[in-house]
Amino acid sequence: VLSVRGLRKMFGDTVVLRDIDFDVLPGQAVVLIGGSGSGKSTLLRCLNLLETVDDGDIHLDGREITDPRVHADEVRRRIGVVFQAYNLFPHMTVLRNVTLAPIRVHRRPRAEARDRARELLTRIGLADKLDVYPDRLSGGQQQRLAIVRALAAGPALLLLDEITSALDPELVGEVLTLVGTLKREGLPMVVATHEMAFAHEIADEVLFLDAGSIVERGTPSQVLDNPREARTQQFLARLT
Ligand code: ATP
Ligand code: MG
Repeated sequence: VLSVRGLRKMFGDTVVLRDIDFDVLPGQAVVLIGGSGSGKSTLLRCLNLLETVDDGDIHLDGREITDPRVHADEVRRRIGVVFQAYNLFPHMTVLRNVTLAPIRVHRRPRAEARDRARELLTRIGLADKLDVYPDRLSGGQQQRLAIVRALAAGPALLLLDEITSALDPELVGEVLTLVGTLKREGLPMVVATHEMAFAHEIADEVLFLDAGSIVERGTPSQVLDNPREARTQQFLARLT
């Protein structure tokens, strides 16, 4: 689905990502872990072309999206993104949050977009909230709505950046359960998270980033249970 080779990103004179190589295969989840400032969000933003890359290339479904001739909007239409917070349009109802992109961007017929939105919202238990505004939802409901909104257009890939870090602890589970379900249904994803139990559960590959480099990578049990690198060990030790 996604292939990243030799990616390098600078902010001014500072290298924030270097020699980043990884693939997301169909149905797979790649999980990014690492300390604050290690480059996780910047990497996700590069994948979605919210940042320009300084070197290397990214292919999405076989097409090079780092080619300057490629339109960023076209790429973003095929990638669903959810961030830590501020994902929703506060002045639009729950239903409209979900149907806006399918209708406006993907030119889907209104009735079809609504049917699909109702179906998705029913799945996350919000069928009775179609006409309310996001500020009437709990934090967990808001993030599940943000995920469903990202899915409404049928993306090829989902990018999730610390989607539970602004939530009260008791709301984290319901959001992560939804992501786990999507993963089992075969939606490819790249996920930055501090939730190691969650990383363990969904990751096909874990990448540990430190100062913009992939320091260690492997299956969850390799990286999270038996890390070989001192920096990974220190990072994980600080979390417990
Ligand atoms: P956190 O866990 O805190 O979210 P992160 O791993 O997501 O951290 P990034 O946000 O990707 O880290 O930041 C990586 C580095 O890039 C940091 O040193 C940060 O200060 C720097 N950086 C991020 N965005 C910019 C920007 N727009 N201009 C300059 N430097 C930036
Ligand atoms: Mg971040």
